[in-house]
Amino acid sequence: MRLKFLDSKNIRKLLNSIFFDKDNSSKSISFAIMILTDSHTHLYSKQFDEDRDAMMQRAFDQKIKRFFIPAIDSSYAEAMYELEKKYSENVFLMMGLHPTSVKENYEDELTFVEQQFENRDFYAVGEIGIDLYWDKSTLTIQQDAFRRQIQLAKQKKLPIVIHCRDAFDEIFEVLETEKSDDLFGIFHCFTGTQEQAKQAISYNMKLGIGGVVTFKNGKIDQFLNEIALEHIVLETDSPYLAPAPFRGKRNESSYLMLVAEKVAKLYGISVEEVAAITTQNSKDIFGV
Ligand SMILES: [Zn+2]
Repeated sequence: MRLKFLDSKNIRKLLNSIFFDKDNSSKSISFAIMILTDSHTHLYSKQFDEDRDAMMQRAFDQKIKRFFIPAIDSSYAEAMYELEKKYSENVFLMMGLHPTSVKENYEDELTFVEQQFENRDFYAVGEIGIDLYWDKSTLTIQQDAFRRQIQLAKQKKLPIVIHCRDAFDEIFEVLETEKSDDLFGIFHCFTGTQEQAKQAISYNMKLGIGGVVTFKNGKIDQFLNEIALEHIVLETDSPYLAPAPFRGKRNESSYLMLVAEKVAKLYGISVEEVAAITTQNSKDIFGV
């Protein structure tokens, strides 16, 4: 379906042969070429209006060079396109209707999403899914919007990016009926159990790992290293869900390094390897 130049095992071999068979100076060389990918970040958020350029520079300085931007609803579209114009080499847009924006007018919002896809290309349909934390009364229309956007993604041969809050059973129910070879994507901000991780992977989903992995009570740190790294991508979900020690503050993409460091520690490998493998995984998913 997609050309896969190097899988994660080969990347590791390649990295080892280039950098780790030499001397101790290898670490700084590999850091110099390291590229981290923030697979989910709302850089167009108003919360960055005051200092967006400085915030982006901090991320670049931390080797975070690729930013995948999830949509929410039509009210954010202009800000997304502005962001893309300014950082066209680093920013990759998705389009979709976020479950918390699925309200009475959701038919109009879905039409808006379809129109955007008619006008131009995107890298994923997202973020879409079900959120029962904020509003249980909209479950039926959330399910409908989720399913229809999955079908759009399949038609476009694009990945989906799933938002799931208090709704694992409901999400899996939809995925179970929609599963197929051309359904794939990311389970964004994965915070479930090991069983739920395996189930998500069985639907061709990668797990989006973010700040929660650094939380004392985040739980996913207890089993994550039993999941093969090829199933994982990194994300911040900024401006939300800042990793420790910034928990509760505004999150930003430069903090992805804290997530990468924690993941490296859990797997007992270097940050450079985590960067290489998870960036490759993001390329496999988004095709760029
Ligand atoms: Zn998000």
